[in-house]
Amino acid sequence: MTDTIDLVDSELSIQDALHKYFGFKSFKGEQETIIESILHKRDTFVIMPTGGGKSLCYQLPAIMSEGTTLVISPLIALMKNQVDMVRGYSSNDDIAHFLNSSLNRSQSKKVKEDLRAGKTKLLYVAPETLTKDSTVEFFKELNISFVAVDEAHCISEWGHDFRPEYRRIRDMLDNIQEDIPIIALTATATPKVRADIIKNLKLKEPNTFISSFNRHNLYYEVRPKPTREATIRNIVQFVKGNEGKSGIIYCLNRKTTEEIAETLQVNGIKAAAYHAGLDSGTRTNVQDHFLMEEIDVIAATIAFGMGIDKPDVRFVLHFDVPKSLENYYQETGRAGRDGLEGKCISYFSQADINKLDKFLRDKPVKEREIGGQHLLEVVGYAESGTCRRQFLLHYFGELFDKKKCEGMCDNCANPKDIIEGKLYMQTALKVIRTLGEQFKLKYLVDFLIGKQSQEVISFRHDQKEGFGVGKEKNKLFWSSVLRQAMLKDYVCKEIENYGVLKLTDKGHAFIDKPEVVEIVLNHEFKEGDAAIIKPQRTVALDPVLVKMLRDLRKQVAKEKQLPPFVIFQDASLNDMATQYPTSVEEMANIVGVSKGKALKFGRKFLALISQYVEDNNIEKPNEIITKQVANKSKRKVYIIQNIDKKISLQTIAEGQGISLDELFEEIETIVASGTKLNIDYFVNDYLDEDQQEEIYDYFMEADTDDLDLARKELDEEYSLDDLRVVRVKFMSELAN
Ligand code: ADP
Ligand code: MG
Ligand code: ZN
Repeated sequence: MTDTIDLVDSELSIQDALHKYFGFKSFKGEQETIIESILHKRDTFVIMPTGGGKSLCYQLPAIMSEGTTLVISPLIALMKNQVDMVRGYSSNDDIAHFLNSSLNRSQSKKVKEDLRAGKTKLLYVAPETLTKDSTVEFFKELNISFVAVDEAHCISEWGHDFRPEYRRIRDMLDNIQEDIPIIALTATATPKVRADIIKNLKLKEPNTFISSFNRHNLYYEVRPKPTREATIRNIVQFVKGNEGKSGIIYCLNRKTTEEIAETLQVNGIKAAAYHAGLDSGTRTNVQDHFLMEEIDVIAATIAFGMGIDKPDVRFVLHFDVPKSLENYYQETGRAGRDGLEGKCISYFSQADINKLDKFLRDKPVKEREIGGQHLLEVVGYAESGTCRRQFLLHYFGELFDKKKCEGMCDNCANPKDIIEGKLYMQTALKVIRTLGEQFKLKYLVDFLIGKQSQEVISFRHDQKEGFGVGKEKNKLFWSSVLRQAMLKDYVCKEIENYGVLKLTDKGHAFIDKPEVVEIVLNHEFKEGDAAIIKPQRTVALDPVLVKMLRDLRKQVAKEKQLPPFVIFQDASLNDMATQYPTSVEEMANIVGVSKGKALKFGRKFLALISQYVEDNNIEKPNEIITKQVANKSKRKVYIIQNIDKKISLQTIAEGQGISLDELFEEIETIVASGTKLNIDYFVNDYLDEDQQEEIYDYFMEADTDDLDLARKELDEEYSLDDLRVVRVKFMSELAN
């Protein structure tokens, strides 16, 4: 065996071949060295971001070589596309073929003829195809130059797209021909996945080429996700503020994609939903319209975006948290491929994580472990108080100096407080050492704060020196320190036992000779986080106007002899000070304001806002008006109709499959947005007339509609439910 592959034309340089076969002037990145490596029959491993030009790394040497190159690729759907691309560069179609289950008999016969005749340079196969005995026998007849394993991360259970058949590739190849050189390529691989690929394909001392994963033009941000409605509203506002630009919104379920697409549509955005539940004709249509820019925004489940190459996607939003950072990176990677603007914003709530966690509980142990670890990383990313780009790149094994982010993530744009953490860092690293470098982050934190968890007790570590050494600080603090330790490369995750933290040489050195180190406190998203989403720059809450609106409300309340909250609720005033409504129509789109209410109380407020807008030369945020989708209110209509019929609330709740509590929330929203509901028949069951009057009078005098306060003021005589019921009656009668 020689140490280079036989070439079709040994006179032709790689450079000339590039020009001759592909018409490109120069190589991108490390393509040339990569091609040399495989032509020298060296196992080669290429990690290069999407769009980096991986295909050429095997296509060009394939065409230059004697024999046929096998290209293993996971997606049958994309094979045809890739074959067409290669054929596009050549004058004959025989140069590339694919062999898979989609071919009929005569088609696969033709492919085999071309292969036997030596006409075909590139043969795309799915790993399943390789496992067929007849195929293997056939391949034995061929002269195979080398094998390219594309999307090689599919080999690892720790990657984002595991295909079990990928694990059998090596055995199959050994069956076909001895010592076939392999080039493996992927766009995402954590250090763990990389190790899996090398091990599983048995790559022999591979030449490894890792390009930087940094996408300098992508802006990363994480926003809290308070409620579904508020989040959709925020998305609509964002899209409105970016009208005419292409974007993708990823969601986990089909219903959400449809809800978001519809809400965008009624708000005048050209949007569509895309998910696996649509028939393939519709899906292709949506995709084509997106490419043709007849649709600007797609709300999609993860099924969308694979293999489509639209260079000017300007934003990628994640309504739901991704399952892993690989997924996240892959999906956000579809933004700004042309090197221009690409905003990547994800909405995060601990409740979403808990939901995903629950799904995992029914999975086999291994899958659960991997899934759980991935979720922890996602949480780590969301909570990170430090540069998001640094965090993401570190996840893929790349050290990145956050100064180079240049404000291109929310944390760099608005830096958090930094504390000097030399001694804390030393303490944390010492604990890792004391415990023999055998534990994961969560355990280390428990040990540091002195939490007697079951696990800690089972290791008898509560007796160990150093247990609780960091108890004056909390969990969040110590996980921030440990995260920082990873980013600074004092600590690394073990490859074999994924998630276990080990000290690096740098970490050991730090313990002996600690240096000044900055620690940024992470952000904690609590379950049911009520945090209001930070208004975007274009739609910021105007504090001056809020104050003016409040004063006006007080004045109007006095005139009408009503409590202020009956006029407009705080949320409504805040929304007005964000959207600047200047007409009744616009006012009717403010949170908690119906047309009726806008007409009844809105006049003075509109006058004030119009004046304010004029005086201050305010540009309204692109008519950001989030309209609700009509059929979303089906439930509300049902409730209103049934209350009109005096049906018992219990029965209504059952009819909608919701709790009485939830029903009450619905009723409150209905009333708050201006619809009168007569619930006397219900209130009378609860309380006698005198009681009702007492509570009613209280609200009449009160400054706020707060229930707890009401309870206290009324000497705890009534339950919260009593008060709530009367409050609804009160609001319904006076505010509407
Ligand atoms: P990847 O598989 O890494 O995502 P592709 O192989 O699909 O990327 O290549 C992305 C784009 O870059 C393709 O349009 C390809 O034609 C182009 N490309 C690759 N190499 C070069 C080159 N040397 N010069 C110019 N364009 C290139
Ligand atoms: Mg590719
Ligand atoms: Zn940053």
